[in-house]
Amino acid sequence: MTLLDASRWSGQIFSSGWKAAHGGVRSVVEPATGDELERIGLADATDIAQAAEAAAQAQHGWAEASFQERAAVLRRAGQLFEQHADEFIEWIVREAGGIPPKGQFEVGIAAEECYQAAALPAHVLGAILPTTEARLSLAKRVPVGVVGVISPFNFPLILGIRSVAPALALGNAVLFKPDPRTAVCGGVSIMRVFEEAGLPPGLLQLLPGGAEAGEALVTHPLVRVISFTGSTPAGRKVGELAGRHLKRAHLELGGNSALLVLDDADVAKAASAGAFGSFNHQGQICMTTGRHLVHDRIADEYISVLADKAAHLPVGNPAKDPVALGPVIDAHQRDRIHELVTSSVAGGARLRAGGTYEGLFYQATVLDQVQPATPAWSEEVFGPVAPVMRFSSDDEAVALASAGEYGLSLGIITRDPMRGLALAERIPTGIVHINDQTVNDEPAAPFGGVGASGTGSRFGGPDANIEAFTDTRWITMRGEVPPYPF
Ligand code: NAD
Repeated sequence: MTLLDASRWSGQIFSSGWKAAHGGVRSVVEPATGDELERIGLADATDIAQAAEAAAQAQHGWAEASFQERAAVLRRAGQLFEQHADEFIEWIVREAGGIPPKGQFEVGIAAEECYQAAALPAHVLGAILPTTEARLSLAKRVPVGVVGVISPFNFPLILGIRSVAPALALGNAVLFKPDPRTAVCGGVSIMRVFEEAGLPPGLLQLLPGGAEAGEALVTHPLVRVISFTGSTPAGRKVGELAGRHLKRAHLELGGNSALLVLDDADVAKAASAGAFGSFNHQGQICMTTGRHLVHDRIADEYISVLADKAAHLPVGNPAKDPVALGPVIDAHQRDRIHELVTSSVAGGARLRAGGTYEGLFYQATVLDQVQPATPAWSEEVFGPVAPVMRFSSDDEAVALASAGEYGLSLGIITRDPMRGLALAERIPTGIVHINDQTVNDEPAAPFGGVGASGTGSRFGGPDANIEAFTDTRWITMRGEVPPYPF
């Protein structure tokens, strides 16, 4: 039997075991064909409340389990991702519309997230503090209790596991709400891995659902920390609700990341990097290169190489053909992309490639003659669209790159890396890549954005994960009760 055999989970959620949901069922649809692949359960507020109670109960024993026991579960989870990689990749291709290399990348990162999380339980989790009293004074990191994880559709496996794995490793229970459009490759897959890895029941609950389920999760009193990855508008709502309920919320939100191509750049290499940054996974990546800023002197050549690449990238069903771009996730997303492209062209931008679609297959698109107010430049498109703007001085490039509310990732391409680094220092962003495009992810790196891209919190690496998924407790100990004047 395969790990993802649907007879176990079809039409269900996981709440201390696979079961029917109060919220009903939903079709799992393949975007490339419109076919129903399977069905999943949809959690509502009742399901979330039941799952939260069970999670809170199970969490105490898990926090008290030895660090070796927790680490062993995480190591087994990493091995299972590797052993069953082909199954996960097939679901990412069919359910999320990713090309196979995207699936391989996601599964590889998922395994690595588990292995790195396996080291967390044995990590130093405290400090001995100076004190003027005759006592031992300690700061200790303790689990927060129940963590709520809410994830989006685009890289559903990575964006779920990057919170689920460290939160569990550090002794928490997790209520996990994936996007219902990718609830198998980004939800059932993680749930089945931890079930098979021997995670005790109740510690991870899988509760697919939409905004309503997400809000029920954020407001449930037993959920103490929220890890949210998604759009800036939804993140604002989650942040507001979490604030009202006095909960910590880690918000990883949208972006409109700039790639600066300086006058000394190798144009062929820069355009290749730029094409990958904008068109990888149909541009549905938070770090997608959403704005190309190219020096006047090389802009004509850059745009013509980029447009030529865009025109030749094959678009189609990644489960059938060796394509570079698969479908976008749904018609709503496609219509938004097309509206941003057509309104940009109506406003004076020049279409150099793409701008058309068939079904959910949107052609790689390049826009020239772009102004700061061009919609495809000023807004996050979340589609395969590369708007290009020209600049003539470093100061102008800094001003253009810094405009806008987002601050997730930044790429600078130049033969002079120190010049690139000096420019980057002047632009607000959470992530910088000198001589690379904007899309990069590694489990050991502290991932996150500033401004409207998030709260500045970070995932990745032991420091960020311990900060995100534990609370600090101050502890003192004396041999005897001291005398008091009362
Ligand atoms: P979205 O915000 O609509 O949905 C993301 C998740 O939040 C889904 O699970 C959804 O069901 C849930 N949700 C929606 N409204 C909610 C609410 N009011 N309360 C609680 N949960 C709610 O995002 P999307 O448009 O599907 O995904 C794309 C967005 O995610 C883009 O803006 C992209 O940049 C961003 N993103 C950010 C990162 C990052 O790490 N910074 C990574 C990937 C995607």
